Amino acid sequence: MAAANTLNKVQEVREVTRLERIGAHSHVRGLGLNDDLEPRQVSQGMVGQLAARRAAGVILEMIKEGKIAGRALLIAGQPGTGKTAIAMGMAQAMSKDAPFQAMAGSEIFSLEMSKTEALTQAFRKSIGVRIKEETELIEGEVVEVSVERPATGTGAKVGKLTLKTTDMETVFDLGQKMIEQITKEKIQAGDIITIDKSSGKVSKLGRSFTRARDYDATDSQTRFVQCPEGELQKRKEVVHTVTIHEIDVINSRTQGFLALFSGDTGEIKSEVREQINSKVAEWREEGKAEIIPGVLFIDEVHMLDIECFSFLNRLLESDMAPVLIMATNRGITRIRGTNYKSPHGIPIDLLDRLLIIATSPYSEKETKQILEIRCEEEDVEMEEQALTVLTRIGLETSLRYAIQLITAASLVCRKRKGTEVSVEDIKKVYSLFIDESRSTTFLKEYQEEFMF
Ligand code: ATP
Repeated sequence: MAAANTLNKVQEVREVTRLERIGAHSHVRGLGLNDDLEPRQVSQGMVGQLAARRAAGVILEMIKEGKIAGRALLIAGQPGTGKTAIAMGMAQAMSKDAPFQAMAGSEIFSLEMSKTEALTQAFRKSIGVRIKEETELIEGEVVEVSVERPATGTGAKVGKLTLKTTDMETVFDLGQKMIEQITKEKIQAGDIITIDKSSGKVSKLGRSFTRARDYDATDSQTRFVQCPEGELQKRKEVVHTVTIHEIDVINSRTQGFLALFSGDTGEIKSEVREQINSKVAEWREEGKAEIIPGVLFIDEVHMLDIECFSFLNRLLESDMAPVLIMATNRGITRIRGTNYKSPHGIPIDLLDRLLIIATSPYSEKETKQILEIRCEEEDVEMEEQALTVLTRIGLETSLRYAIQLITAASLVCRKRKGTEVSVEDIKKVYSLFIDESRSTTFLKEYQEEFMF
């Protein structure tokens, strides 16, 4: 499995794609609850929406106790009332490296793959695999040792032994243990190994190229080299978290690693997925990997059709399911693909599994607090009066629109070489970029001209 050496790259790619998708929520760092699961008015980037956050906290507790298997969450509320923000806060509160995957129900129909494949990929993008190095290294106590062979043809069996430590006593003490262990553990020349000071346990970290079965501890070439101070880096347990989907893609011959950059992964063969599932199960058994369930957030869930819903039902049954959070602002509506109406356009068998929480519109004060947090997040200084104007805009149009104006206004401000966004800057961007309702009015007024 080529997974290990590509993990770092995957991590980088993911950071970038993640950033793009969740930029608007980058200020959200959790649910902002205290130890009694009570929400603080403003905490971890979250403001207000207390009842929903409290409910989310209870669900989080159920998740931790493993009592949510096979169930899902539905957040019902108006646009811009923080449904995505709460879902993301839950993922953050579950674990720092829990994946958060957000999608809109309508995306399922626009992708160049079957609906069920799109849902399976979304599920697998929401399940993390935390892969661990075996040894825990503690600064000053553990040495990094490389056993190398000198230039070929010198006849020396093992040319150099380098211990990286600032402590000479450790060098000799460990060196002795190491020599015993190297023979015992069949460490090969070229292997990068680590030794735990207290147990003297030797673990392999890297690849080898020459056998050291003929390693000779008394070889005159063997040297202990003390590293200059500061060169020893603090080595912690190295942990990567990638999603199962990323492992699928890396190991899929038709897609390959580069597909992660383009995001164009196409369909993945079920054999590949089966292989990965059993590989991951093996890693788990060996203690090398842990499954980190994340959150799959499906917005506008009423856009899914009956086939998608029954597939979701099935996916929820699998033992590696992430926490599924759906959101909608619809009441009773038709289930797509049928002639039946139901609450939120969701079939009854799925509704039965759902825990539902509601979000409500924000007060003026809360809107202002959220905008203030966004300004901080984007490093934008804003005059008090400008913030007040922006808050009014947020209340009259939408919170999301007001948030978008922050970046634009700060650019206008910079252009005029100002340091603080002023009311004028806000006015300017408000006239430059129209919000949804002005855009609709505009289109209605000029309907004639747009019709061909
Ligand atoms: P939609 O239904 O249109 O998808 P939504 O209910 O998911 O909207 P969000 O996208 O979460 O709303 O909210 C809009 C913006 O306001 C986002 O940038 C979000 O992070 C921020 N936001 C919303 N609610 C809160 C909150 N309670 N605390 C802090 N930020 C919030």
